[in-house]
Amino acid sequence: MQLLLMGPPGAGKGTQSAELIKKFSIPQISTGDMFRAAVKEGTELGKKAKACMDKGELVPDEVTIGIVRERLAKDDCKNGFILDGFPRTVEQADALKKILDDLGIKLTRVLNIHVPAENLIERAVGRRICKNCGATYHVKFNPPKTENKCDNCGGELYQRGDDNAKTMKTRLSTYENSTRPLIEYYKKVGIYTEVDGGQPITKVTEDLVNVLSSAAD
Ligand code: ADP
Ligand code: ADP
Ligand code: ZN
Repeated sequence: MQLLLMGPPGAGKGTQSAELIKKFSIPQISTGDMFRAAVKEGTELGKKAKACMDKGELVPDEVTIGIVRERLAKDDCKNGFILDGFPRTVEQADALKKILDDLGIKLTRVLNIHVPAENLIERAVGRRICKNCGATYHVKFNPPKTENKCDNCGGELYQRGDDNAKTMKTRLSTYENSTRPLIEYYKKVGIYTEVDGGQPITKVTEDLVNVLSSAAD
């Protein structure tokens, strides 16, 4: 199963991917996570990515496409994968088509998590992530059992540098200008489904799983 999870910043892509990878035993490929890992390691890629991420702008297409091409060629993608946060531009979507054609595979489904724009800043600003295992929480909508501690591993939680209201405004307009056109793009391909991301986390997961099981029939 080759899935693409789309949605504006803060829609719940990472949260839902974490559930789907458990259910379907396929890897999650998050370009955002890959860029953050590179920033942490201080690599050349990390340096390039950080400047864009801090401003809420997209990392250039050629850089982003290159890391996805390498990642999708790895063995663990043979039985499928979930792309989370890629593609984000029409150019990236065209490049993805070419990468998948070369590998002889097709996207199974594009799932778009729809959340009204007015809810997204609160979601991003309240987001907290485990330093140790990467689990995602929200101070109000999905708080850990003990404040600032990960339920899974006891790790300390942190807030992403770009999860502030100012950067979110730029990220949301970047989404509108560059990423929203992909909805029409994948509708035309005929593999697009939208789910209501305004529901509680477990209900969104249920809807996603239902779409995927009926698509498999
Ligand atoms: P994305 O990967 O799309 O940016 P995340 O999965 O990291 O989004 O979710 C953004 C924030 O919103 C996190 O703090 C997460 O806990 C919270 N969240 C995710 N899904 C929901 C939901 N259905 N209702 C309320 N909060 C949610
Ligand atoms: P969110 O879904 O909350 O916006 P991500 O972790 O997916 O967060 O992305 C964080 C940042 O990483 C983006 O604001 C952007 O700078 C960069 N990024 C992630 N994915 C891409 C992509 N496909 N193309 C360009 N930049 C990206
Ligand atoms: Zn943890």
